Amino acid sequence: MLHGPCEFRIYGGGMDLREIGEFGLINQIRKWITSSDPALIQGIGDDVAVIEMGSKVLLVTTDILIEDIHFDRSWTDPNPLGSKALAVNLSDIAAMGGIPKYFLISIGLPKNLPLSFVSSFYRGLKKEAKRFRVELIGGDTSLSQKIVINICLLGEGRKRDLLFRKGARVGDDLFVSGTLGDAALGLKILQEKKKIKGAEGLIKKHLSPCPRVEMGQAIAKHHWATAMIDVSDGLLIDTSHLLQEGGVGVQVWEDRIPLSRLYQKWIHSFSKDPFQFALSGGEDYELLFTAPTEMRKRISSLSRSLKIPITCIGEILPKKEGLHIIRKDGKDYSPSRLGFEHFK
Ligand code: ADP
Ligand code: MG
Repeated sequence: MLHGPCEFRIYGGGMDLREIGEFGLINQIRKWITSSDPALIQGIGDDVAVIEMGSKVLLVTTDILIEDIHFDRSWTDPNPLGSKALAVNLSDIAAMGGIPKYFLISIGLPKNLPLSFVSSFYRGLKKEAKRFRVELIGGDTSLSQKIVINICLLGEGRKRDLLFRKGARVGDDLFVSGTLGDAALGLKILQEKKKIKGAEGLIKKHLSPCPRVEMGQAIAKHHWATAMIDVSDGLLIDTSHLLQEGGVGVQVWEDRIPLSRLYQKWIHSFSKDPFQFALSGGEDYELLFTAPTEMRKRISSLSRSLKIPITCIGEILPKKEGLHIIRKDGKDYSPSRLGFEHFK
């Protein structure tokens, strides 16, 4: 509940959130709130929090979707929105190689919202829950001017099978699943209100992402990888998280970045740089992981059995090398802006 006017205080002066950005803020929060609980294997700083519970570990993750920030009601049907709200959380558990189990959902809704919108949203949610065998166990409901959706997903795993953002080693390959940039290009098409025949697949990637739960579990269970994250904010930002947590650098070969046929067909209508959306666009919900070179054969056979591409796009280097991209002509550069960040 908000405090009454007599308790209202103005916090003025100093830095504002624009200056530190979303990730600077999370780093601050990480310093403000520290934990010495021995059962806490992973607190703030990874895709999922990990808590030791007897012989297993409890996995907990949460994500928020806010109207006009994460979605626009004019182009978002409630049914796929329900599926997506759960999918973005499932993707975080996938990135640890965990098994998703139960979730709670809190919703803030405007009072003039048709009930049919909410029922259709819950049908989409139920479909996704059934597909990934997770159960809704509760939530909270409030009035809100805009639609706000927050899911908290619980999962389980075995400590020795989990993969964290930290763990990449110099000489490891950097792999990514699927193709990149499709969701961001789909969003761009929606924002520009362009009706492009044949580009529906890109829009679908934005509206209905598919979390790589089975793939994440297989990679973790077989101990093929050293570190893993899901690509939610964009390839460059999420790679930089792997580097920061692992204390390593990387080189990424631009021409190896997997691009879909649709992406390659339409990118030129929206950007001069054919890799812009693949490098900096968010919401692909693919898996990005590092693995020793001797795992290449096993990873390509997993890719074949799941019928999902897994591509080696780079090599892990010592920390001092930072993040650099090698272009087709052999020239390399370090990107100055990594991608979208809230508040910036
Ligand atoms: P993801 O993109 O995988 O959802 P985020 O970048 O949102 O991850 O979050 C990174 C880490 O920071 C996670 O451990 C998350 O739980 C934590 N985190 C994010 N926002 C907050 C917050 N407001 N307070 C505490 N922890 C936060
Ligand atoms: Mg994540």
